[in-house]
Amino acid sequence: METLPLHRKTLDFLARPQRMLIGAQWLDAANGNSLQVRNPATGEPLASVPSASAADVDRAVQAARTAFYDSAWSRTRPRERQNLLWRLADLIERDADVLAELECLNNGKSAQVARAMDVQLCIDFLRYMAGWATKIEGSTVEPSLPLMPNEDFHAYIRREAVGVVGAIVAWNFPLLLACWKLGPALASGCTLVLKPADETPLSALKLAELVLEAGYPAGVFNVVTGTGLNAGAALSSHPGVDKLTFTGSTEVGKQIGKAAMDNMTRVTLELGGKSPTIVLADADLQQAAAGAASAIFFNQGQVCCAGSRLYVQRKHFDNVVADIAAIANGMKLGNGLDPSVQMGPLISAKQQDRVTGYINLGRELGSTVACGGEGFGPGYFVQPTVLVDVDQRHRLVQEEIFGPVLVAMPFDDIDEVVRLANDNPYGLGASIWSNDLGAVHRMIPRIRSGSVWVNCHSALDPALPFGGHKLSGIGREMGAAAIEHYTELKTVMIKL
Ligand code: NAD
Repeated sequence: METLPLHRKTLDFLARPQRMLIGAQWLDAANGNSLQVRNPATGEPLASVPSASAADVDRAVQAARTAFYDSAWSRTRPRERQNLLWRLADLIERDADVLAELECLNNGKSAQVARAMDVQLCIDFLRYMAGWATKIEGSTVEPSLPLMPNEDFHAYIRREAVGVVGAIVAWNFPLLLACWKLGPALASGCTLVLKPADETPLSALKLAELVLEAGYPAGVFNVVTGTGLNAGAALSSHPGVDKLTFTGSTEVGKQIGKAAMDNMTRVTLELGGKSPTIVLADADLQQAAAGAASAIFFNQGQVCCAGSRLYVQRKHFDNVVADIAAIANGMKLGNGLDPSVQMGPLISAKQQDRVTGYINLGRELGSTVACGGEGFGPGYFVQPTVLVDVDQRHRLVQEEIFGPVLVAMPFDDIDEVVRLANDNPYGLGASIWSNDLGAVHRMIPRIRSGSVWVNCHSALDPALPFGGHKLSGIGREMGAAAIEHYTELKTVMIKL
């Protein structure tokens, strides 16, 4: 294996003890507990981070409350918020290689891809959100007040920062998901407590370092590392949090939604998916096969909007599946520090077991493995896998596997494929591969998902809202929609 040497700054970061950022202080957990994180490419320990308890979370929420309610931060002018966010993006760009290496070591993804995709998307997104800081607007309304016909009134609506944000994120895009929360929160003037995933806290701690260097005041951004059961649950039930924003599984999202309701905390949930890739007979089939392969195999299939269900019009089904299987069989699996590697390991042994468990269930239910089908080590690898002879009602077609496993089915006509695409509890994304503009435009309104891509899949842009229908969540990340979720309306009525 040819791996590139790590940057000096990455080695320095890994060599030092990891602490959480609360207020302006780097702290261990109050009870001294810690959590070990592993390199999924080897299974070996990588670092140890504090495992926060409810007491640590409370301290972080208090720091964020002080920064929001009692300090100058809430009076910061939009231009200053814009400049700070831009400066943070510049620092992420300066340390982009280090952040990409940390994502690779901690998550398993390719360092090269992390630099080009994850880190670059963070930079672009924060610059886009910096622009929003100066464009948050209210409105004026002419009131009628029929009972007071002889009085004059001036009424207007302010859009204000929602307050303290509690952000809990998943491990599949650790830095990017953190930036999706941080960007609109800090552009709007909120303060933030971030709880990264148990498995992948390292890039969040590096991000916290850059937030301080950018010049944000103490308590505006806090990071508590630890488990979902302790730190996550404490953050989601804390009455001092004004808004919760969560990215993760639907199962945990439901618990967080319920906890939020107990305190009437505002909440947005970005949850799981089982997105269909639909190939119509007229499509450019080679392009469609390559697109369908990347829709499911990118990031080891650990993508919320991965194209994990493939529907191909019957006469081309075998050809398209054969092309995807050929792509899968040609993929090089290995350590993401090797620039020639195309697929890394899954995040953990637990995830490897879960994904291979689904593949074995497919075999038991009578499906045929068209390619892949095996897990291997050291590290937590699973071969890119395509299953055919699956039934729409199979658990493999209905449930999110969250790994490099594609279930492929033929269809006969458009009404049928629209019904099959919608016959799933999730509704995050869908792609249609076709050159028949009329057919595509007629299908788009009939697909129940937050995004529809045509002749591409998972194409995200900072200016476009991203989120789910049905069990895929509530609310949107990115675009102007994100700002709405981090602000509240205040109605002002003045009798003149
Ligand atoms: P998860 O729900 O297990 O964990 C996500 C986060 O929630 C972690 O930080 C975890 O520590 C925390 N958590 C766990 N239990 C908790 C509890 N009881 N209370 C509070 N917090 C708790 O999800 P995961 O396995 O880390 O991530 C995979 C899931 O995330 C998939 O379902 C995927 O589709 C989803 N996801 C969705 C999007 C999106 O934008 N829609 C993006 C990425 C990932």
